[in-house]
Amino acid sequence: MINIARTETAPDCLKKQQNYECENVLEKLKIDFFGKCYICETSLFSTNVEHFKAHRGDKKLKFEWTNLFLACGHCNNIKLSTDILNCTDSKHDVENWISYKPIFVPVGEVEISAKRKNKLTIDTVNILNKVYNGHTNIKTTDAQKIKDEIVKEMIVLQRLLLQYSKEKYNELEITDIEKDIRKKLHKGSKLTAFKRQVIKDNKLKFLLS
Ligand SMILES: [Zn+2]
Repeated sequence: MINIARTETAPDCLKKQQNYECENVLEKLKIDFFGKCYICETSLFSTNVEHFKAHRGDKKLKFEWTNLFLACGHCNNIKLSTDILNCTDSKHDVENWISYKPIFVPVGEVEISAKRKNKLTIDTVNILNKVYNGHTNIKTTDAQKIKDEIVKEMIVLQRLLLQYSKEKYNELEITDIEKDIRKKLHKGSKLTAFKRQVIKDNKLKFLLS
């Protein structure tokens, strides 16, 4: 999970309070959320408009632009109505309050832990652990697809970091490699939180600026 800056103006069609998936709501969400689910940070499963806070018939919550998020079925189904950290709220520093331990082989167990011991962070971590590891037979099969994706992303990042550390490349080549690393760490890239964690843990923070 990473922090997202949401478009401030809500699509006009939401004012009618008839259909929360009206006109360009989904398109706008796809731009703001970089086309990926805000929970698992992938686009492996089809994404849809999710109510961050369950509306339970409350019209305001149902059509409130800031309550509409882009989430995939796999994650939505695990989160249900649990209150979790809001990645679109800049006061919730989701990247630094949660620790992401990536895997480098597909059989590994993804470890997500809370750096901040408040209920919201702990509940978010519990959801993320289920999302990445599964807790039922079906969810474990879907979680495996995400794990495979984590391994693939890590392989690419490792290869780039290996090239970056070699002296055989000239200045121009190093600039290109650095550009590729930064692309992999950009919010628009998948599973960014895992890759940024590796960078932070290895004193390469300058690559995040
Ligand atoms: Zn998801």
